[in-house]
Amino acid sequence: MDISIRTPLIHSLPLSQQSGCNIWLKMESSQPTGSFKLRSAEKICCHYASKGVKGFVSSSGGNAGIAVAHSGRRLGLPVTVVVPETTPARARQLIEMEGARLVVHGKVWSEANDYALSLVTDEIVYVHPFDNPLLWEGISTMVDEVISEGLRPDAVILSVGGGSMLSGIAQGLEKHQLGHIPVYAVETHGTASLNASLNAGKLVRLDKVSGIATTLAASQVCENAFNVASRMNVKSMLVSDLEALNACRRFLDDHRVLIEPACGVSLSLLYEHKIRFNPANNVLVIICGGASVTLEGIK
Ligand SMILES: *Cc1c(COP(=O)(O)O)cnc(C)c1O
Repeated sequence: MDISIRTPLIHSLPLSQQSGCNIWLKMESSQPTGSFKLRSAEKICCHYASKGVKGFVSSSGGNAGIAVAHSGRRLGLPVTVVVPETTPARARQLIEMEGARLVVHGKVWSEANDYALSLVTDEIVYVHPFDNPLLWEGISTMVDEVISEGLRPDAVILSVGGGSMLSGIAQGLEKHQLGHIPVYAVETHGTASLNASLNAGKLVRLDKVSGIATTLAASQVCENAFNVASRMNVKSMLVSDLEALNACRRFLDDHRVLIEPACGVSLSLLYEHKIRFNPANNVLVIICGGASVTLEGIK
């Protein structure tokens, strides 16, 4: 059964003209749940479904939770999503719309997560929002699709929260002998967990995370993302909340697609001319999408 879909790869004329090279967009915003998280959730949920599990539990009030809820519904298996009281109404609504049981527990994410973990049994599997090799495997198929369309990118731009996207894209690039190309890994100043770890030369946890890109607000990236960033040609980049927001607005005008600031961070590198490429370069931007955004939210 296919849960995630093969997404469009489009050459962006507006972004290419203003960047002076070829900009290609992998439109993960077109996934049924609005983000690439459906690739990772599908991979892990199908894996465990084939082993006969009876349900899933997630503690993500964001795109990961929505993707697990969707995958469970498609597989005919119940999903419980435990979220803290701070989770916005819109996110709760999207999770419930997928038919999942929504449990509101605790003031902060760690309390919700502890409760989610307490629901795990032999037959109920916990799905981590970003730290599991099966998740990365699912995400790596994005690169397979790009290569199968004849594009071998000279660079990739993507955003980093907990690091599953970086892990999965890195896996896909290495599989296709593209492990040497630069990967621009973008965070906001308030969610710079990868940047802080690279500066420290070891995995560190941020005392606090802040700002508009709540989807990127993991206080620590997974160890694999740190290892990938240390081993490969990964360039850590930071942008402001306003730059991310402005990129969302401009992208809406340029491509008629509404994306979260968590995705806008990647595009802001281009809109704000923070990097230069050779005119012949083909640059792949992962339009990771995001479901918890409304027109009102980016005004
Ligand atoms: C999860 C997510 C991210 C960050 O991905 P990580 O794998 O956590 O680094 C970025 N954008 C969107 C829309 C997401 O759903």
